[in-house]
Amino acid sequence: MPNHLLRSLPSIERLLERPLALQLSADLGRERVRDLLRETTDELREEVTSGQWSVAGTSQSLTEEVERRLETRAAQFSQPSLRRVVNATGVIIHTNLGRAPLARQAVEALSETAANYSNLEYDLKLGQRGRREAHCQNLLSRLSGSEAATVANNNAAAVLLVLNTLAEGGEVIVSRGELIEIGGSFRIPDVMAKSGAILREVGTTNRTRIEDYRDAINERTRLILRVHPSNYRIIGFTERPSAEEIADAARRAGVPSFEDLGSGCLIDLSPYGVKDEPVVADSLKAGISVVSFSGDKMLGGPQAGIITGSREIIDRVVKNPLMRALRVDKMTYAAIEATLRLYERGAALTEVPVIRAIATTREEIAGRAAQLVESITRLTNGRFTISLEDGASVIGGGSAPEVKLPTVLVAMKDAQMSAASLEERLRGFRVPIITRTERDRVMIDLRTVSVEEEAIILDAIAALAQPAHESPASIERYEIGVGGK
Ligand SMILES: *Cc1c(COP(=O)(O)O)cnc(C)c1O
Repeated sequence: MPNHLLRSLPSIERLLERPLALQLSADLGRERVRDLLRETTDELREEVTSGQWSVAGTSQSLTEEVERRLETRAAQFSQPSLRRVVNATGVIIHTNLGRAPLARQAVEALSETAANYSNLEYDLKLGQRGRREAHCQNLLSRLSGSEAATVANNNAAAVLLVLNTLAEGGEVIVSRGELIEIGGSFRIPDVMAKSGAILREVGTTNRTRIEDYRDAINERTRLILRVHPSNYRIIGFTERPSAEEIADAARRAGVPSFEDLGSGCLIDLSPYGVKDEPVVADSLKAGISVVSFSGDKMLGGPQAGIITGSREIIDRVVKNPLMRALRVDKMTYAAIEATLRLYERGAALTEVPVIRAIATTREEIAGRAAQLVESITRLTNGRFTISLEDGASVIGGGSAPEVKLPTVLVAMKDAQMSAASLEERLRGFRVPIITRTERDRVMIDLRTVSVEEEAIILDAIAALAQPAHESPASIERYEIGVGGK
């Protein structure tokens, strides 16, 4: 029987002339559709031959099956690799989910710069070649209280650049309590080695005194490094010199001091419960010569590494040939500048999404969560068991690990589906929705979800609630993330 069935399958060329293939060819190109058809028919032929695809089938049903699978493949193929998702985890700076979403103003500046020519390296006054490092310099200096500033690809690049510029071939003193690893293989000792500087570790894991630094200073010392232990805390019997003490010890030794701040807040967020993230200006005020931090952590801008400090040091950093390899593009400059302007206008709390998420109150989230529960219940005829629960959002991105921001979670449970499959189905939606599961419930934290995104969550849950037997096609589409509405 199988052979008879297979003979009834139209040739690839005939399949290519059918309406579906013609329509897909307009988007994907005929060659691509031909490849997809070949893959599909090969797969089906094998299933028929091995008896897996046993249908009391007519030739028409086989053709239909080919086209059904072609559509699925084509949809998967058209899906971009990098896609927008909804972050319902409550982790504000989620490194796996692209860290900081940009402010609207930053997106506008970025897109204007990206789509047009710009004065990236052109001096509009003189009508001649200018320097890209000129952009953001003054803004960054004003906001951090420094003489000068520059921007590198990310903070890892910034640390590498500063170490290489100031200490290649010499020693850098660091506390053993600050020899940290940030996720994604950024380790202070490894970066130090790559920079060509020699690590001179002092003190112990839990206690390092300023005398430890002083005792280690010798004629090979080029720099004292202080690192913000972003993603972990040493508690209990601990000691760590202040930024002032480090700056003072370095000054006496005639070497610069450098602080890797990690997140680097531009404004004090302690009124919102973020108590242990240092403010950039405070480090510089304490006398630290140069400071670096990420653009896409607490700052809430694009991926970048900001270096700010004394003019003499920044000038040397900018002249370092490594800068050419680690510099940022015009879109990054545009996005940083627009983000920084929001800080300067005092509008960060309302306009920069990361800061806004941190400042959102539990009451605000509770109100939105209650409304969402009501909408879900109405849309799904009470299919899911949903409750509101107190919980905590976190900063993430290796920042402020101890900070727990009080939130209200939407906890969802289904009689027919485990929380794991609910979570997976939400993740498979047209716009993937990333949630977490806890005690066999799916948890949605609206702190990291914009008001506009609530509609996406509702759409996904409504599609989930559709009984499979009513609309198998829509479920299929739902899973591959094309239809679903
Ligand atoms: C995050 C972090 C880095 C790395 O910054 P990226 O911008 O991710 O390259 C370096 N140092 C510290 C202390 C950090 O927290």
